[in-house]
Amino acid sequence: MTASPTNVSEPGAAGPPSKSMISIRKVQKHYGSLHVLKDIDLEVPAGQVVVVLGPSGSGKSTLCRTINRLEPIDSGEIYIDGNLLPSEGRDLAKLRADVGMVFQSFNLFAHKTILENVTLAPVKVRRKSKADADKRGYQLLERVGIATQKDKYPAQLSGGQQQRVAIARSLAMEPTVMLFDEPTSALDPEMVNEVLDVMVSLAKEGMTMLVVTHEMGFARKAADRIIFMADGQIVEDTDPESFFTQPKSERARDFLSKIL
Ligand code: ADP
Ligand code: MG
Repeated sequence: MTASPTNVSEPGAAGPPSKSMISIRKVQKHYGSLHVLKDIDLEVPAGQVVVVLGPSGSGKSTLCRTINRLEPIDSGEIYIDGNLLPSEGRDLAKLRADVGMVFQSFNLFAHKTILENVTLAPVKVRRKSKADADKRGYQLLERVGIATQKDKYPAQLSGGQQQRVAIARSLAMEPTVMLFDEPTSALDPEMVNEVLDVMVSLAKEGMTMLVVTHEMGFARKAADRIIFMADGQIVEDTDPESFFTQPKSERARDFLSKIL
């Protein structure tokens, strides 16, 4: 049966474009009268690393938060790996678990050990056995270089170590997409690289990633693509080399002149 033209405007009627791991279509978001996301369209293929740049207040965090529906959107559609994100309900919890998110603040559970922090959600949400979760959790802690700390509590670790635990905790849910919102902004400078190194290795392993960061070294080294946002819009969407050497917009030139 051929779809009638009237179907096309219905939410989800057209389906996600093939091969996009994240598909954002015509997303609008207001906070009261403030228009924070203005008709955002973004397709991220599997395995791509997208670095999101832009001045403070341009909507970068809001974009991240809408992708796993920590924030509802006013209109538009978001697909993760071909699945339309519902606005609420059990399906949402399941889909949200496919999207790992790492914030500026590590948000570890203070009264749980490092290993417990990593195994809690897989047991509760993914219904893994304790033994399986422990085994996988330990492997992930090894991967982020922190397995020897597994029985300590978050407060006994440095900021860089805690953020690596937060990454391991996200990975324990076996996400298909990882979102990072300024993951190194709260860290002392000497701890930034240990976290970025983990992110670079994740990128090399083929994880689909959307990374908001002010670390231009990371952007140059790890990004496949740069999205530059200003005033709730995607103003530039290009490769790192082009963005850093020949930004097209006045906004991007202004932004780069302040940070480089
Ligand atoms: P960025 O991460 O690029 O700095 P944000 O997405 O955090 O930008 O914010 C975009 C705009 O939305 C800003 O003007 C900010 O003040 C506003 N904003 C963010 N969160 C809220 C909220 N929960 N309520 C009202 N306004 C908000
Ligand atoms: Mg932000």
